[in-house]
Amino acid sequence: MNLKYSIWICFSILVLLSVCCVVAGLMPTAVLVCLGVVGGAAAGGLGSLFWRIQKELQSITRTLSAETPFIASSSVLLKPLTNGLISALRKIYESRQEIRLENQELNLQFQLLRRRKSGVEAILNSIQDAVLVCDSQDRLILANPSAERLFDFKFDSSQPPSVRNVLKQSSLLEMILKTLGSRVRHVRHELTVARDDGNICFDCVLSCVVDDAGQTACVVAVLHDITREKEISRAKNDFVSHVSHELKTPLASINAYAEMLVDGEAQDAATVRQFCEIIQGQANRLNRLIEDVLNISRIESGLVKVNRQPHSLVMILRDALEMMQSYAKEKDITVQAPLPILYDRVCVDKDMMTQVVVNLLSNAVKYTPVGGSITVQSEVNDVEGTITVSITDTGIGIPQQDLDKLFGKFYRVEANENFAKGTGLGLNLVKQIVETVHGGRVFVRSQQGKGSTFGFVLPLAAAGQAVVNPH
Ligand code: ADP
Repeated sequence: MNLKYSIWICFSILVLLSVCCVVAGLMPTAVLVCLGVVGGAAAGGLGSLFWRIQKELQSITRTLSAETPFIASSSVLLKPLTNGLISALRKIYESRQEIRLENQELNLQFQLLRRRKSGVEAILNSIQDAVLVCDSQDRLILANPSAERLFDFKFDSSQPPSVRNVLKQSSLLEMILKTLGSRVRHVRHELTVARDDGNICFDCVLSCVVDDAGQTACVVAVLHDITREKEISRAKNDFVSHVSHELKTPLASINAYAEMLVDGEAQDAATVRQFCEIIQGQANRLNRLIEDVLNISRIESGLVKVNRQPHSLVMILRDALEMMQSYAKEKDITVQAPLPILYDRVCVDKDMMTQVVVNLLSNAVKYTPVGGSITVQSEVNDVEGTITVSITDTGIGIPQQDLDKLFGKFYRVEANENFAKGTGLGLNLVKQIVETVHGGRVFVRSQQGKGSTFGFVLPLAAAGQAVVNPH
């Protein structure tokens, strides 16, 4: 209710009470008149005073709601009161402004931090290496998706799990806890993680993060997969030891027979000849071995010079057959040459392709008993634009379990070991030339005791194709 009306109501009640007193004879009329005048004046004054206070308060309220720092005070009487209020308000207003500015600044900083955090997260998530961060209370405070996949868990940054629960009893857990305790800046370990699909080898770097007080804040573990590098280095070592082993055998033989000749153990001309032939045979084997090893490593390293030109594949087959004819005749093996084809041009290095066909043909002769037969065929697939060459023999065949390993380096079929001597490099060289150099495909089909079919598929050269040299 309005203050002015309240005062007037109080005054009216006072007058009514006085009139009642007069009527009841309790008060003389003159006193009543005086009281009325005085009361009226007081009420008027008080009403006016309260009315002004109310106006000022309204003005202040308006000021507050309008958030304006200036208030125009009209009353001299209320000036001290309003001035006090104004200065208090001004201070409140100023501190509110400061708080608002600070708030804006904090918001800005917060946005920046959020953006930086998501940037760091994006970087971490895109890293192929597994990254794990563990704090001094053994809590996992950060892990990227590679780490989640590797250790099979889901990371939730709002509820950092214990590193002990995530890594269980793994050697990585031991390393992390040891690094947390030791405060060593960087440590490097090799780590093997067993998985259903085989072991994975990691180069694991653990780094200690130290806070301003020199205490270990956390340990960052980065696991880089080195399984492939390890395999390559193992394959290289195997290759070197295989080559050395293969070189040793003919060398030992040459050495032994040369020694016997020097010691005069060959009494007659026939024995001398026999020893010399053995030495020559072993020297030839050594030569072939070294040639094959060099050819394979040249192709693998991309250092080999390839002279690709369009050639008729059937012509290459016939040339190779001619080279092998006398060898086949020695074993009374009949060889059926391929029929000419209308369009059989392939863009190949002729010497290399001749080597491929010679290797396959010599194997066919080598692993076919006396009196057998070899059939060489070529077939064009117009739809795919390819030509397929197959060399089928009636030889000893290959057990099924050996078929997918045949084209590996130094692989020799144990069951056929005694049938013929070899290095186990011939088919690997065939594969390298056909697949790595010419972008073709090799294949084998075989039935033990019945014979084998080795072959390859090459893309046909497009008519008028330019000479392309991939190496
Ligand atoms: P090698 O010098 O031992 O013949 P290759 O790499 O040419 O080396 O052949 C690997 C193995 O594949 C041989 O040891 C042999 O057992 C088997 N092999 C290759 N060709 C034939 C074939 N036509 N018939 C039967 N076995 C074969």
